[in-house]
Amino acid sequence: MTQTIPVARATISPAPARPEETTSLYQAMMRGFRCRCPNCGKGHLFGKYLKVADQCEECGEEFHHHRADDLPAYLVIIVVGHVIVPAVLAVEVAYSPPYWLHALIWLPLTLVSSLGLLQPTKGAIVGLQWQTGMHGFEAARTRRLEQLAITASVTSEPALIGPAQQVVHSRHWSDNMKDDRALFGLSTDRAQKGTEHISDRCQP
Ligand SMILES: [Zn+2]
Repeated sequence: MTQTIPVARATISPAPARPEETTSLYQAMMRGFRCRCPNCGKGHLFGKYLKVADQCEECGEEFHHHRADDLPAYLVIIVVGHVIVPAVLAVEVAYSPPYWLHALIWLPLTLVSSLGLLQPTKGAIVGLQWQTGMHGFEAARTRRLEQLAITASVTSEPALIGPAQQVVHSRHWSDNMKDDRALFGLSTDRAQKGTEHISDRCQP
């Protein structure tokens, strides 16, 4: 007589996604272009015309370590130059106005467009540096990702599974936390704290 032995099927929850930036590069640069904080999009990025604020007055994100340097000016020269110079040549070929009229039209136009684009361009560059963790923003980005990893580990509810699977689930999380820690340079204490928290929640 054959006896059918029931086979327990272990169901392992899919691995949680690695924490990613909640603010995309495009979003951060557009916020910067609008002269707003790339982190919250509300606070002012600039204290004065081209003086970047030390930190956001809304969320406290620090900007003092940005290194936009001369890149905004180079970009503005390229953009404005590629618009103004062809326009000057086209007007000259078509109408041949006197030079004083050229100067009267193009000099103010060049000045206004350059000064108008300089601040948004610098804001976009700061947003780019902030989102990608360049220069002094590296530590801030690491902190953000670390916080996201811990938040994800705390907010993800374990599925309705049995005690045997809960152990697997807990180990699964533990392994993922180790991977995240290695990838994002998480501090041992905080990663361990998140792991222990999940292990506690998985207790029957
Ligand atoms: Zn902010």
